[in-house]
Amino acid sequence: MPDYKWINTDNIHYITVPHWAQEGVSVAFSACLGGVSQLPYNTLNLGLHVGDNMDNVIENRRRYLELFSFTPENMICCEQVHGNLVAVVGKEEQGRGALDYHTSLPGYDAMVCNTPGIMLTTFYADCIPIYLFDPWQRVVAIAHSGWKGTMGRIAVQTLRVMQKEYGCSPENIEVFIGPGIGVCCFQIGEELVKQVKEEFSGFNGILKYESNEYAWDLQLTNRFMLQEDGIRSENIIDCQLCTACNPEIFFSYRREQGKTGRMAAVIGLNY
Ligand SMILES: [Zn+2]
Repeated sequence: MPDYKWINTDNIHYITVPHWAQEGVSVAFSACLGGVSQLPYNTLNLGLHVGDNMDNVIENRRRYLELFSFTPENMICCEQVHGNLVAVVGKEEQGRGALDYHTSLPGYDAMVCNTPGIMLTTFYADCIPIYLFDPWQRVVAIAHSGWKGTMGRIAVQTLRVMQKEYGCSPENIEVFIGPGIGVCCFQIGEELVKQVKEEFSGFNGILKYESNEYAWDLQLTNRFMLQEDGIRSENIIDCQLCTACNPEIFFSYRREQGKTGRMAAVIGLNY
């Protein structure tokens, strides 16, 4: 059974997918350790848009990407507006958002690419990163799926762009659902419960009712919507790590009430 793995290199801890790495894919989700940022961004804050010192963030990005023989200039970042738009990117977009948030691809939350040497990069503090890889067509993608993105089925939108642009078949595509807020910590209000029930009426077990409150399982919801669109269950790795209840390794927007750093999900085809 394929799995994910923690790696610690030069004090930077990250999760990777070893069997993708063997196929020539650089893939990782960072922890909050091993960087140069100060409180409350301590220490490996990779987000430029959260009020941290820019030089520190860029140094953190450099350290993180170096582990995969990439540089910040190889990155492509999108604005991440909690929408469901998917950008197809290549050499022309290389470096967007890498050194200045304002050059990020505006309006997008997901990216698809088949060009080696480019690192698709998105940032997180509770939302769910959905990584996709087609080893046959050699296409990689990342989707930023918070609760709004999940409602907008951004993971499925991304899959469909892979099919349309590159002729990928869902049965060949492998998915890694990275760390994000877990059902243990994602309690939601009545209005959202109603919307979730309406949108995902066929998905059993995505809402948990406990102590008079509902909690929503975003990871499971993303898994079900991808399976509904043809991704095979055995091709999905769901790490089931919660960012909100692991303060020693992850930033969490909900836990810190907004003032915190960002982890980065990266995926790229090696040269
Ligand atoms: Zn939790």
